Amino acid sequence: MMTEKELAYERQIPIKGNEALRLKAFEYCEGYKDFIDNAKTEREAVEYTKNIAESNGFLPLSACSVSSGEKLYYVNNCKSVFYARIGSGSLENGVRLIVAHVDSPRLDLKQLPLFESSGISYFKTHYYGGLKKYQWTALPLSLHGVIYKADGEKIDICIGEDDDDPVFYITDLMPHIAKDQYDKTLRDAIPGETLNIVNGSVPFDDEKGSVKHNILCLLNEKYGITERDFITAELSATPAQRSRDVGFDRSLVGAYGQDDRVCAYTSLLALLEMEAPKRTSCCLLVDKEEIGSVGATGMQSRFFENSVAELLDGMGCYSELALRRALRNSSMLSSDVSAGYDPAYAEAFEKKNAAYLGRGIVLNKFTGARGKSGSNDANAEYVARVRRIFDDHDVAFQTAELGKVDFGGGGTIAYIAALYGMEVIDSGVAVLSMHAPWEVTSKADVYEAYKAYKAFLLDA
Ligand code: MN
Ligand code: MN
Repeated sequence: MMTEKELAYERQIPIKGNEALRLKAFEYCEGYKDFIDNAKTEREAVEYTKNIAESNGFLPLSACSVSSGEKLYYVNNCKSVFYARIGSGSLENGVRLIVAHVDSPRLDLKQLPLFESSGISYFKTHYYGGLKKYQWTALPLSLHGVIYKADGEKIDICIGEDDDDPVFYITDLMPHIAKDQYDKTLRDAIPGETLNIVNGSVPFDDEKGSVKHNILCLLNEKYGITERDFITAELSATPAQRSRDVGFDRSLVGAYGQDDRVCAYTSLLALLEMEAPKRTSCCLLVDKEEIGSVGATGMQSRFFENSVAELLDGMGCYSELALRRALRNSSMLSSDVSAGYDPAYAEAFEKKNAAYLGRGIVLNKFTGARGKSGSNDANAEYVARVRRIFDDHDVAFQTAELGKVDFGGGGTIAYIAALYGMEVIDSGVAVLSMHAPWEVTSKADVYEAYKAYKAFLLDA
């Protein structure tokens, strides 16, 4: 007769009582923290990952032959990137693929952002992705992105990340005179059009000129730009804070943009560090997930399909049918974060099917809303395969869904890849305060995710 413990579903707790594992996880997260601090936008994430891939021997697709053992990458418009390790087997048998997104909720500057009011100069913004607007006031912000001048010259912008840099700021009303604001709902208290970023307060030529004029002069001096150049700019404000350890035991990482760059980092490292694979193994980092995976750099574009077509062509065996087969026979982990169970908001979760911090990578068989709508819902056969791989490689994992039934919901890119007929399941790190300017993850989970992705690429 089996014991109750043997029969019941036991969540595995990877760190407790395992000092060696704890040290490994903590050390691993130092590299992760460097990434998350230096890759606050999709552009920066593509650049950062491209650099570590290159130092691991990866070459641009255009510069190498597509043959067994090659390591290559293919960048799509600066904002998404495909990494591949070419295996010895036929591509028609499918690839092993891990996909994460590298965009996060933030405040984008409008195309004509600069205005002045009562002696203060501001940027107008339009928020990007699902964020709670009240969380973005009264905190230091940094500016990231590019500006193209009339002659086509590109200027890279990153201001507010160095300790000596200035930062930017959105004001909130002091509590003393916020009586009316207190009566509003969270949804309405901070309207989108009030998320204006303070960027200066000194008028040009003392009393006579405007503050806006002075700011434009400063920008012209430093970057040689005029107000018209904002039309051809892409600038985003993100929280300026860097990552920090959270808690006396330093078991948690606090940082901006962990959804989903925590999965991007762990997925790519799993690919970089694997032995030469039999099956071609790929990691795809995509953009625009937070606004519906649209656009040429989002998962709905044909970038992944085109990348596989390029591989087939490089091997001299491209045909429409070979491409369809390669896609159809592939297996994928949609590596995206999960909602961590938060005791402070217990009413939003169903305890039995929630993801807990420190209990390993989370498998989400399905996502979606109102009866799984918009979900991928992985086949039991595939979940069983992934479970076996994780068990074989001692990966701590748990299963969860996103909050209580009918409490909202959400989606990932899983269903888009599934259109090709490949097997896909969502798997990722549990996050507290997801989409807040500062999110929290467990170091143990980050490390287990990396182990899980490595196991998947090796064995699936
Ligand atoms: Mn995500
Ligand atoms: Mn998200």
